[in-house]
Amino acid sequence: MEAEHMKAADLIKTMDCRHFIDGKYVASGNQKTFVNVNPATEEILGTVAEGGKEEIDLAVAAARKALRGPWKKMTQHERISIIRRIGDIILERKDELARLESLDTGKPYWLSGTVDIPRSAYNFHFFADYLRSIGTEAYQHDDVAINYAVRRPVGVVGLINPWNLPLLLLTWKLAPCLAAGNTAVIKPAELTPMTATLLGEICKEAGVPDGVVNIVHGFGPDSAGSALTEHPDVDAISFTGETTTGKIIMKAAAQSLKRLSYELGGKNPNIIFADSDLDEVLETTLKSSFINQGEVCLCGSRIYVQRPVYEAFVEKFTAKAKELTVGHPFDPNTKVGALISEEHYSRVSSYIQLAKAEGGTVVTGGKRPEGLEKGFYLEPTIITGLDRSCRVVREEIFGPVVTVLPFDTEEEVVEQANDTHYGLSATVWTNDLRRAHRVAGQIEAGIVWVNTWFLRDLRTPFGGMKQSGIGREGGMHSFEFYSELTNICIKL
Ligand code: NAD
Repeated sequence: MEAEHMKAADLIKTMDCRHFIDGKYVASGNQKTFVNVNPATEEILGTVAEGGKEEIDLAVAAARKALRGPWKKMTQHERISIIRRIGDIILERKDELARLESLDTGKPYWLSGTVDIPRSAYNFHFFADYLRSIGTEAYQHDDVAINYAVRRPVGVVGLINPWNLPLLLLTWKLAPCLAAGNTAVIKPAELTPMTATLLGEICKEAGVPDGVVNIVHGFGPDSAGSALTEHPDVDAISFTGETTTGKIIMKAAAQSLKRLSYELGGKNPNIIFADSDLDEVLETTLKSSFINQGEVCLCGSRIYVQRPVYEAFVEKFTAKAKELTVGHPFDPNTKVGALISEEHYSRVSSYIQLAKAEGGTVVTGGKRPEGLEKGFYLEPTIITGLDRSCRVVREEIFGPVVTVLPFDTEEEVVEQANDTHYGLSATVWTNDLRRAHRVAGQIEAGIVWVNTWFLRDLRTPFGGMKQSGIGREGGMHSFEFYSELTNICIKL
């Protein structure tokens, strides 16, 4: 088995990532690079060009020029065909991209192959098709005037991405950005540069004109990230990442009043009422807690269980969590792979120590699995015995660590669920129709799932309230962000 799954990983031994600027792969002007580490083995996967102000300047200039080039003159039909073609090529290269994604992130290969990469392709197919149905507003003002709005691109857009779903989240931004006629400068996460790098050649092969899509690698502060957010010729920034980073970017973007779209952190409640179907709850809660090593912004890391089923839930949930195989991303039996980096592993582990100090009980997990000495592996961890004031219950951990708390009444759990500065998503489990509507409507979150999790229709608004985000993405909401409207008023 070891040999078998390593073979898939070995197909790509190393990959050096360079910037993609004005249709060409280039090194940094000063030749600076940093290393990319495989989180599952701690081996070096390759080097990554380290960009900064100079490379961002070049990329923004190319993107600005491309706004006036063939991209602008294309018909909507031509643009749709190119964007659809990007999705097609991603599917044609699915295995290769899935391998790269798993090497970079440590997530199971089957997960990259069934979720990350197909969904990345679908982002292009979806937004290309959606473009056909978009209209604008028109109002007749008695017999005085007619008003109608026309849509145009915002301009050069900076797309800044996190490491947890690298290609999926990048394409979730890039597809509508291109569909609306903009040009882009992408700053991938420094920990996961590989699939983003490949996207450059994929876009070129699909027929995207040079300069329309640019990719600059590097870090955040004092690097490519800050250079992009501070650049006076960038019109908008779409950012997904930590809430604290969002606050820094907002300050930088304020200098030139850039339009901002934010998808930030979460500490999402998963509320389980006693009348729900416990088998269904357990199966989905296992995913909403531990899939992708718990490194999903939508994971339900605060689990609230109504007292009559609390004991049974903890017992069964613990048993199921223990059955999850933690292991190498290319082993088909692996359910939970490696965390993204040594630094993140230490941070997540520190919360487990903190939970103990705060009086919590680690019911299962909390340590590195036996036999996995190399790589950043952590067992799925369930913690009980904490209350709402504990840091472990309040702060985003972004790993395979959940807390389970009992509750008695509907009012009490709504109050607890909302007792956070985050407001990204929530899940409510109940078979009581009226309660489902009542509770869902009171939870302060951009997305509330009832009796499910991660079920996505890309037309729906996606985003967070409070400090989990600004604005919404998805369907029309993405087009609102990526386009400017001009109202034309004609006196009759
Ligand atoms: P991060 O904020 O550390 O980094 C995200 C990106 O921002 C990276 O590309 C990084 O280089 C860049 N960056 C960092 N500092 C910067 C600066 N000063 N200026 C410009 N760019 C800068 O986040 P992360 O650790 O990569 O990702 C995890 C976080 O992302 C979690 O908080 C998670 O909840 C959040 N997230 C949210 C969503 C969502 O849809 N709401 C989705 C995925 C992840």
